[in-house]
Amino acid sequence: DLVALRRALISVSDKTCVVEFARALAARGVELLSTGGTSALLREAGLTVRDVADVTGFPEMMDGRVKTLHPAVHGGLLALRGNAEHQAAMADHGIDPIDLLVVNLYPFEATVAKGADYDTCIENIDIGGPAMIRAAAKNHLFVNVVVDVEDYAALLAELDAHDDRTSLAFRQRLAQAAYARTAAYDAAVSTWMAAAIGEGAPRRRAFAGTLAQTLRYGENPHQSAAFYTDGSGRAGVATAKQWQGKELSYNNINDTDAAFELVAEFGGEAPACAIIKHANPCGVATGATLLEAYTRAYDCDRTSAFGGIVALNRPLDAATAEEIAKIFTEVVIAPGADAAAMQVFAAKKNLRLLTTDALPDPAAPILTFRQVGGGFLVQGKDNGRIAMPDLKVVTKRAPTEAELADMLFAWRVAKHVKSNAIVYVKDGATVGVGAGQMSRVDSTRIAARKAEDMAEALGLAEPLTRGCVAASDAFFPFADGVEVLADVGATAVIQPGGSMRDAEVIAAADAAGLAMVFTSMRHFRH
Ligand code: 5GP
Repeated sequence: DLVALRRALISVSDKTCVVEFARALAARGVELLSTGGTSALLREAGLTVRDVADVTGFPEMMDGRVKTLHPAVHGGLLALRGNAEHQAAMADHGIDPIDLLVVNLYPFEATVAKGADYDTCIENIDIGGPAMIRAAAKNHLFVNVVVDVEDYAALLAELDAHDDRTSLAFRQRLAQAAYARTAAYDAAVSTWMAAAIGEGAPRRRAFAGTLAQTLRYGENPHQSAAFYTDGSGRAGVATAKQWQGKELSYNNINDTDAAFELVAEFGGEAPACAIIKHANPCGVATGATLLEAYTRAYDCDRTSAFGGIVALNRPLDAATAEEIAKIFTEVVIAPGADAAAMQVFAAKKNLRLLTTDALPDPAAPILTFRQVGGGFLVQGKDNGRIAMPDLKVVTKRAPTEAELADMLFAWRVAKHVKSNAIVYVKDGATVGVGAGQMSRVDSTRIAARKAEDMAEALGLAEPLTRGCVAASDAFFPFADGVEVLADVGATAVIQPGGSMRDAEVIAAADAAGLAMVFTSMRHFRH
């Protein structure tokens, strides 16, 4: 199954290392064929190259839209070498076999990421390149296809190992990578187009991304993992710049995403901070300054914040950096960081600092995926938002202004807490978070107990939950949850409503003198 290389067609947009690679091929006696820009470069470097236009008998035309789309090229890539009929066709039409195809595509993804206009993006959709890649990959029994600069060295090593020939196993690996590339390429085009024509989260959508990083392992050391970008160029953990610290792990990336998406809810508002552990917030707060927001978030649950991920809604400053640096923190992410803050962190070699140019857009029409046995579940991201006018007061007592403000804050946090979620808030800071319980009343109790522990640690006379408000991500199925809230000291409750027993739940709230509002929107997060 070893195949020798006689002719190579090289047509690359990214010309990195192509001269050196072509020279190494020529030194092994491989004849070179190439398209306009590539052949000019190779010729300049002193290599002997034949133009594809010379082989096809057609000039490259229509701004390069048609260069290699010709039987002389595709016949040379697709012909079965041992097949008499195919050989006869080649002989009849003067088609020479091509044993190696080296193509990298028009930089469509990079063009989109640069924010190019519609026509420019369209012009950067490669047509002939993918056609050749697919043809060569199909015929991998005889043909080698290289679509990545990183594989140049691998091919030369393979030739060295097999007396200037390649093995079938090697060609199969190349073909597999080639189809991954064309699939990702078309997926990028489709994704961009959906956004360009305003098809927010289309039902027909190709799933693919660009490999950004192979991770050391997944959620646990025995799981393999990788990190892909989706080509959207959107602000978020995948497009953030890491300034220092060890490589991000799978769990770091997942938690950093949860933290940044949560804090982005408070985009244009007061300074805000979210601290995340295992994808759930253990403290979220606003403040007059970023430092105050961080300190108040930290004071919600200092125990859990240890080894946490901190996300900020404005550029990191030195005072906040100094405070964060006092405890062990895995990652800090913010839309920027000033020089003084960077200086503070420079001494903390293990702390990972990530910055972006902007906050994630909480309203972006993004799809989320979950793998299930034999398939995927796909849904639009939970972009639900409510405002004051959406709230319906259902109790005898109406909430005060202060309670309303805290309820809306608690509601936004609850959206980012695993269900069943109960969030206690006072003065724009969480004072207790109950996450991920199978029963709502348990979440209510756990959040209260954490608040008690914190009060003890901070030396407070009573837990911060006295006089707080509470948010519940879904309705209370029974009155017991609301009774616990009243015992804990909550004075107002925000929840979707819609339970069969709403009347009982409202009666329990009235009996305890609580104010309660319904949102008519649910924020399950599983
Ligand atoms: P060059 O810089 O050599 O002129 O062009 C190289 C690029 O052209 C490669 O990215 C290759 O994928 C692309 N290409 C090759 N043949 C065709 C074709 O027939 N149509 C289009 N649109 N692109 C092609």
